[in-house]
Amino acid sequence: MNQTPRWVDTHCHLEMLKEPAATALEKGAALGLRRCLTIGTNHQTNQEVLGFCGRFPEVYGALGCHPHHAKDFVPSYLEFIDQALGQNPKLVAVGECGLDFFYGFSEPELQTQAFEAQLRLAHKHQKPVVIHSREAETATLAVLKTAPPVRGVFHSFTSSLEMAQQVLEQGFYLGFNGICTFPKSEAVREVLKQTPKSRLLLETDAPYLSPVPLRGKPNLPGNVSLVGAFVAEFLGLPALELAEICYQNSLDLFGWPS
Ligand SMILES: [Zn+2]
Ligand SMILES: [Zn+2]
Repeated sequence: MNQTPRWVDTHCHLEMLKEPAATALEKGAALGLRRCLTIGTNHQTNQEVLGFCGRFPEVYGALGCHPHHAKDFVPSYLEFIDQALGQNPKLVAVGECGLDFFYGFSEPELQTQAFEAQLRLAHKHQKPVVIHSREAETATLAVLKTAPPVRGVFHSFTSSLEMAQQVLEQGFYLGFNGICTFPKSEAVREVLKQTPKSRLLLETDAPYLSPVPLRGKPNLPGNVSLVGAFVAEFLGLPALELAEICYQNSLDLFGWPS
């Protein structure tokens, strides 16, 4: 039987794509894309996430404040997320939130405060968090240690194997994207190899991080099929089997209907 794997893109930014979302989703559907989670990064994009959730049945959303934008995280912005999470069942996560000390676009203190506030919000609504952590391993673990318990995913995982082991122990999932296809990403592939399959998620981070062989071109959610094909081959699994595992993992974490 010639089945197409059903792929889920657990992290993309539909409002930043270089083409209309409807076109991108149509192209994705032809490649087996069944669902995607579009991620808010600031107050403006959070509102766009709501729009996409309303327009496309296969699109779900996360609302949050990216660490780059932590300096703009005023109370009314947090309240907006709080209210929306309580009202819209298509909002299945808080984020992306976290710490990014690679680009210092917001002060570390402000990043920490915004991250902590979003972890409390996720706990309050019993929703998972989408965590962005770059060059901030120790600080990220320190925040999680004092925060109320939450479930979630470390998206675009590029931290160390030790970090991976610690967050896996805490029950988090790891999200892998086009980065794992890059020739120089041996360390990321080592983490991928060591990650239990039950904690594996695939994403694109479109429009960023196009996988090989599309590097340098604008990324699209449908390219999760290329990331998936690469990961399947790397792990020695049929693509269909890997897609099914990741599909189930996304259901388990985000609780959307199957
Ligand atoms: Zn990110
Ligand atoms: Zn992102």
